[in-house]
Order: sequence, then C-alpha cells, then structure tokens
Amino acid sequence: MNLPEAFKERMKNDLKNEYESFLESYEKEPTIALRVNTLKLSVEDFQETVDFCGENVAWCPTGFYYDGKKGNHPSSIAGLFYSQEPSAQIAAELADIQKGDKVLDLCAAPGGKSTQLAAKLQGEGLLISNEVVGNRAKILCENIERMGVKNAVVTNMYPEKMERIFSEFFDKIVVDAPCSGEGMFRKDDVAIQEWSIEHTQSCASRQLSILDSAYKMLAPGGKLVYSTCTFAKVENEEVAEKFAEKYSDITILEMHRLMPHRIEGEGHFSAVFKKSGEKQVEKLSSPTPAKKEMTEAYRLFEKENLNTKLDGNFVSFGDFLYLMPKEMISLDKIKCIRPGLQLGEVRKGRFIPSHHLCMALKKEDFKRLIALSDDEISLYTRGEAIIHSGEKGYGAMLYKEKYPIGWYKLSEGLAKNHYPKYLRKV
Ligand code: SAM
Repeated sequence: MNLPEAFKERMKNDLKNEYESFLESYEKEPTIALRVNTLKLSVEDFQETVDFCGENVAWCPTGFYYDGKKGNHPSSIAGLFYSQEPSAQIAAELADIQKGDKVLDLCAAPGGKSTQLAAKLQGEGLLISNEVVGNRAKILCENIERMGVKNAVVTNMYPEKMERIFSEFFDKIVVDAPCSGEGMFRKDDVAIQEWSIEHTQSCASRQLSILDSAYKMLAPGGKLVYSTCTFAKVENEEVAEKFAEKYSDITILEMHRLMPHRIEGEGHFSAVFKKSGEKQVEKLSSPTPAKKEMTEAYRLFEKENLNTKLDGNFVSFGDFLYLMPKEMISLDKIKCIRPGLQLGEVRKGRFIPSHHLCMALKKEDFKRLIALSDDEISLYTRGEAIIHSGEKGYGAMLYKEKYPIGWYKLSEGLAKNHYPKYLRKV
C-alpha cells in the first residue's frame, strides 16, 4: 500500500516501538462487522435466525464480526442488522444513552451511529439525526427506515444554523466528525490521495467549530461524545483538550483510541465530555398539527388494518402524514427531511401506508400477515404479486414468520405488491 511518507513519519514518531506492527496491519484485509438491530430482535434471536454471525466485538455487546456482502440477504431487507465497521461501534456505546433522552447525532450519514443510538433509546425520547450533505441525508433516511426507527427526525443543516434553534436542548450529543480518515486507508484509496498534513490541520479547525455548535446545543448536565476515524493527534487528543480548555463547564471524562494493530478493526478515536450544571426546562414552540382529515384517514386505516394505536404528534408534509416524537419542537426554521415516522399518504381521502410504517411495526401489530419463504421474498422484492386467499385489506409480508419486510394489499385472491419501487431489486 502506498502510504504518504509524511504520514508514516508522523506515525513512527507517535507510535515508537509499536510502529512496525502498525505498518504490518496494512497487509491484512479490512475487518467487517454488523450490529444486531435490537429494535427488532434480541442478539440471541438474531444468532438463531442467521448463520453468518461471528465473534462478538469486544466493546459493543450487539456487534459481531462477519464476512460482509449480505446487503441482499432477507435478514438485511428486514432490517435485522446494520453493517458497521467494528471500531466505529464504540462511540455510541460511550454516549450513556437512557430511554427518553433527547439525543443529537450531529454528523450522522450514513447512519451507523444514529441507528445504534436509536436502538439504545428503544423508541422512547427523541433522536435528531443531522447531515449537511443532501444526498447523504437521503441515504441516512433510508437506513433509518429499514431499521424501523420510530422516534428519529432527520435534518439537513449546518451546525451553526442548528445551534440558534436548539439552545441547550439535548441530553446527549454525538459528533462523529468529518476527519482526514487515516483509519480508512486500508479500504479507501481516495482517503490516501486526499491526505496531507495541511488537511489534518484544516480538519481540526472544522472539528473545533462543529464542537462549538455542539457545546451550545448541549444541556447542562449533558454528555457529548466526539469521535473520528483518524489517528492524527491534532484531530483527536488536541481537539478534545482545546475544547475542554475553552469552556470552563466542560470536562473530559474519558478518551479511547482503538488502533488497527491492537484490535480487529480499522481504528477509531473517541472522547467523552460532560457539561456541568443543572438542566433548565424551557418550553419551546410546538409543531403545527396535521389537518384533522389526514389524522382521521390514518385512524381509520389503523382501525381496519392494525392492532396498535400510535401515539405522538401528527404533522403533515404535503400529502404525507408523519408521527413526530412528542419531544420535538416546531419545524419553523428547521430544514427537515423526515419530521418523524412517515405513516403514509392521504390521496383523495384514502390512506396509503408508507414502507417506513411497516418497518417500524412488529408482527403482532398487523391484523393480516403472510409468511414468505426466502425464494418468495426474492420475488416480492422484485415487485411481484403473491397468490393468497383471505380477508381483504393491508397486511405485512414476513421473513422467517416473524419480521415484517413490506406491505401487501389483498383483494380477490391476490396479495398486491406494495414494496416501494425505490427499493426493488431488478
Ligand atoms: N456518523 C456517521 C455514521 O456513523 O454512519 C458517519 C459520519 S462521517 C464520519 C462525517 C459526516 O460529517 C459526513 O457525513 C459529512 O458529510 C458530515 N460533514 C461534513 N462537513 C460537516 C460540517 N461542517 N458539519 C457537520 N457535518 C459535516
């Protein structure tokens, strides 16, 4: 591997007698892991369901090594796991998430840490997953949808703008900052080409500026996790120390460095900070409720097709109805691309459920179910209808008789396919 000379020199200085074994780590294949989605099933149930779950990742109880390349596997379609580089699994573990917390993931796409934070919240409280790059924010939304997260709001804003709205609002914040990506060298040549000492320095100033915004949004008593996938001290320990020096109410609780020659993983840095003081409860403006007709259309659909009654604030975006977490504030001034769980669309007074809703529900929440074999799942995800007799209405297709993978609508002996076109395998 063609590593930059200045990088090698700096690492030699930093690592001293560990340097040779660090260099040897570049001869090995990159490591791949998954994280079991405990919003949908337990680790034990996952291990019984699939045959590719390897050794546990030491710092993440729901993380396991595997051979990758399972994106089209039915268990992936059902959102039972998220593929995530093993050392990146540490940051959300350190965030001390409690059910009911208000959590911000400030640099969130494609969603590894957000979906991990969401699993820790178990549907209680609020997760705001923010991503500044529009296209990446869309991928983030898709991952949040597949993992069946109910209480996530996805925003597409620069931290400097967010800080004006969410002053001291969050109990926990994760800043998985854009960095020089030295931990990506083993799997991404572009990271090597873009690397320079100057780049690490400019990343450090951007990281400090993102942390300034995070500081303003963190409630007194709250915790902040800062992480990167680089090895440069200037972007890691030095950023953490400068941040703690700048704010007298910030203390560093712990710092961790996972290095590829010491562990099975590409490497990650994380620092945990606490902000002292007592949280003040401030009433912020509430969201504008959705039109009554839209909520009524949903409630009718719910009564006819589901065994559950969802609770939260109903809001609308055009013809789409969303269930926004109760802790979320008015969307005025917020560039939001997912104001909560997308329930569905109201077309000419009729409610058409969204895939998001199906993925966020459990088997017992549906009145109608069809269990599919793996072969039938492959037909279903290509858009084909399934011959089936039974009561008319919407129901869920199941993987392994338990896990929803998408809607169908039954009429006249045919389960019409409602798997979204944007996800179909062609
Ligand atoms: N947390 C993500 C995960 O676990 O899947 C990975 C995040 S990646 C390391 C950093 C993200 O920060 C990128 O998606 C990038 O688009 C975003 N970013 C870039 N510039 C930013 C800025 N000025 N403020 C906030 N985020 C930024």
